[in-house]
Amino acid sequence: MASNLPILISSHFKELITLAAAKKNESAVNALKKQVEYSEQEEHVLSYESQDPLGSSHFLVAPRLIHQYKNRCLLLSTGRCFSNCRYCFRRASPAKSFDLLSEQELEDVCDYILKHNYIEEILVSGGDIMTAPNDKIKQILQSLRKIRPSLLIRICTRAPVFAPERFTPELVTFFRSIKPLWLIPHINHSAELDAKTTACLERIIDTGIPVQSQTVLLKGVNDSVQELSKLFNHLVKIGVKPGYLFMTDIAPGTAHFRTPLPEALKLYEALKEELSGLSLPVFAVDIPDGGGKFNLQQISADFMKYTVTKEDNWFTFTDKNGKVRRYPIEKD
Ligand code: SF4
Repeated sequence: MASNLPILISSHFKELITLAAAKKNESAVNALKKQVEYSEQEEHVLSYESQDPLGSSHFLVAPRLIHQYKNRCLLLSTGRCFSNCRYCFRRASPAKSFDLLSEQELEDVCDYILKHNYIEEILVSGGDIMTAPNDKIKQILQSLRKIRPSLLIRICTRAPVFAPERFTPELVTFFRSIKPLWLIPHINHSAELDAKTTACLERIIDTGIPVQSQTVLLKGVNDSVQELSKLFNHLVKIGVKPGYLFMTDIAPGTAHFRTPLPEALKLYEALKEELSGLSLPVFAVDIPDGGGKFNLQQISADFMKYTVTKEDNWFTFTDKNGKVRRYPIEKD
């Protein structure tokens, strides 16, 4: 069995599904439902899928802190989310069942950052910190700000799509007071940008908070040039810079969400023809088992002809720094 990830769908996400159904937009209904509804395909676990697909546990330096890249670290603030995405890369990780970090854990995180003065950036991830009560969110962010005024804080959240009501004017004004702070919303489909989510993002931007989105490439959800172009063009018009398009990570029971790498690269090449530099996100993959983030723009759609060898069902390719990377070959 893949994991016991409970079915959890926020009331706002249910509203999005109802809205798409009222517009008789069947592909949007399917795209939204596939992200949050259980499928028996989740029971199909492949040998190379992993509870810890990014290998984050290799870089755990405090109970809630991952320090993989020299000048930045990642805080696991909580395991809770407003909805459970069925493709979640932490779906089988112990981190998905974490409660909100304790006072002691927050102190340990702050101590670590204080002792490592070359850390310039922290990603506040989870789960989703926006599920926490406002006073706890404020305490966490104020504590981080206190240890270093220049520390760049990035809040990674799916709340603008799952629970836009959480971004009250009061909380957004607070975020602004914590600058430098960026908001990184996770948005996968144009049908997620209804009036409430759009108003929420505009409020954040109008308050002066920079916003850069991230999107996961999901088979049967957004794996077409048409849908991705629509999404990224729409985001730019709101004022959100599309930041990253990620390959789906190899978490247990998520193969039905993944596009094989060669097809994904072809899709991205076609996307480049459609979009301006402003609308085009960076295409990246997290290399399994701690290999780190790899920018797929370093290799072209016809990379298989030149740089890739196939070994035991893994693509093996060399990046521009000469480092060898591996990624599983997946069948359609
Ligand atoms: S919002 Fe992020 S952490 Fe939460 S279930 Fe979805 S992918 Fe996982």
